[in-house]
Amino acid sequence: MVDELEHKYEVKIQAKEELQKIPNDVKEILKEGGMMDEKGKLKLKGVSPKMLKKMKQEFVECPVLKDDVNFIQCFVCPNFQSRVMGSVLCKGDELKD
Ligand code: SF4
Repeated sequence: MVDELEHKYEVKIQAKEELQKIPNDVKEILKEGGMMDEKGKLKLKGVSPKMLKKMKQEFVECPVLKDDVNFIQCFVCPNFQSRVMGSVLCKGDELKD
C-alpha cells in the first residue's frame, strides 16, 4: 500500500523529446546492481525496450538536488521509493554528492 510508505515528496515525472545521458557514477551503480551490461546497455527486469526508451526521456525536478534529474538516476537513488501514477515517491533525505 502506498499509504504505508513514508515519503516526503511526491515528484512529478516529466518528459523531454531528446534522450538524456546517464552520468558515469549512475552507470556504475547500475552495473553493480546488474541493471546495465558492460557495453552500457540497460537491463531492467520486466521493462521492455520501448519502456526503457521512454524512461530515458523522463526526468524529475529533484527537490533535494534542486536540479533536473534523469529518471533512471532517480530510480537508483537511495531516496527512491516507488513510482506511482506518473510520480516518484521520494524520501527527501539529504544526498551526499
Ligand atoms: S528519489 Fe532521489 S533523485 Fe529522485 S527526486 Fe528523490 S532525491 Fe531526487
